[in-house]
Amino acid sequence: MAKRLYIKELLSHDPKGQDVNVKGWVRTKRGNKNVAFIAVNDGSTIHNIQVVADPSAFDEELLKKVSTGAAVSITGSLVESKGSGQPVEIQAANIHVYGTADPETYPLQKKGHSLEFLREIAHLRPRTNTFGAVFRIRHAMAFAIHKFFNDKGFFYLHTPIITGSDAEGAGAMFRVTTLDAKNPPIKEGKVDFEEDFFGKETNLTVSGQLEGEMGALALGLIYTFGPTFRAENSNTARHLAEFWMIEPEMAFYELTDNMDLAEEMLKYLVTYALENCKDDLEFLNKMYETTLLEKLNSIVTSEFERLPYTRAVEILQESKQKFEFPVSWGTDLQSEHERYLVEKHFKKPVILFDYPKEIKAFYMKQNEDGKTVRAMDVLFPGIGEIIGGSQREEDHARLKNRIEEMGIAEDTLWWYLESRKFGTVPHAGFGLGFERLMLFVTGMANIRDVIPFPRTPQNAEF
Ligand code: ATP
Ligand code: MN
Repeated sequence: MAKRLYIKELLSHDPKGQDVNVKGWVRTKRGNKNVAFIAVNDGSTIHNIQVVADPSAFDEELLKKVSTGAAVSITGSLVESKGSGQPVEIQAANIHVYGTADPETYPLQKKGHSLEFLREIAHLRPRTNTFGAVFRIRHAMAFAIHKFFNDKGFFYLHTPIITGSDAEGAGAMFRVTTLDAKNPPIKEGKVDFEEDFFGKETNLTVSGQLEGEMGALALGLIYTFGPTFRAENSNTARHLAEFWMIEPEMAFYELTDNMDLAEEMLKYLVTYALENCKDDLEFLNKMYETTLLEKLNSIVTSEFERLPYTRAVEILQESKQKFEFPVSWGTDLQSEHERYLVEKHFKKPVILFDYPKEIKAFYMKQNEDGKTVRAMDVLFPGIGEIIGGSQREEDHARLKNRIEEMGIAEDTLWWYLESRKFGTVPHAGFGLGFERLMLFVTGMANIRDVIPFPRTPQNAEF
């Protein structure tokens, strides 16, 4: 029995004419009466293996079934390729077809579909070169995130996906309920959530941070990496209703430590991609964004610009740039402003800090000026905000005041407040949007194209 090898291994194999077996999907078949060239891909790499078959040696009906999209197992000897496109090829001795793909109806029969069209066949798009590359890189980035934190002594903490605290302030939430939507129990004119599964109102989490902090205040260094959900009706190329977030939380870290970690992590991840996803990145660089590799390399060597929000507002106001939304102190920066700072003004990543407290969450540490909080956002070229974080308010009285000031229901946060009552310490953390990172690393333009099955308003088909 010939040994089954993955194409990634096959291509770097010494072609000694030994028998090998490859299993995968046919990408193309071409040739003539005398010879057939079958390109097979098995997902292990962007590259195909070329199979050469002598049509007279095979049943005609069998060869007909070997069409684009069909699943095959091919055995033959691995030889040096005579063609220029590949180092080795397989001379087919045996072909087995597992599953056919009718050329009349297989949607990927032809190449060159638009990304928009491919979104409509999200169940099949992983079989394209583009999405194969994107999803291999996605895996590599997930792995690198765990490696980065593990090597630094962080613990991976699993925070809940269903949450009872609806006051995280990060956005609209999806309700989780087992009540009958058509006929819910009513008490005093309102839906009685005491009758619900958890005996209270619950939602899908928008962030694991609050629970993550409880971990950091015991284990020292933790991170979460899980799905988060936001029900905002924002139909942009950078927002999903379901996205993955990485949230480290560090006891005894202050804002500068937080910035240092964020910068180190982003550089580590980009370096990891450059070193481990070379073929896929080169493909994306060639097909979509010809400056991708250059852009990735420049991040690794640049020193991120760090400046206070107040200074950024001045720069934006002094600029001659016409913005759709005007800038003034106290307003949240729009993506156009963030991108101006990064792409035009500084020409490198920017970390803004000390934002007005009115536009940031209740848990951020208040500065002495009474106006700003120790928030930080990391802004990236082409993306805008990729990370949002802060030093947390560790003072019980100040935190409680802020919760009251902002009119947040304190009864869902009593446990969070208690962490400031018992052994409180300065601590900080941030959230990195995994798909925003993926946008940057792959150079893809739409966030729907960096997650296998995107969840956006009006779209949960697959
Ligand atoms: P934005 O202003 O871009 O909508 P945000 O300030 O609401 O983001 P945070 O609450 O700070 O986001 O979340 C932390 C990180 O999670 C962001 O920096 C971003 O990378 C990512 N993120 C936030 N919302 C989304 C979303 N809807 N889809 C994908 N990623 C998101
Ligand atoms: Mn943010």
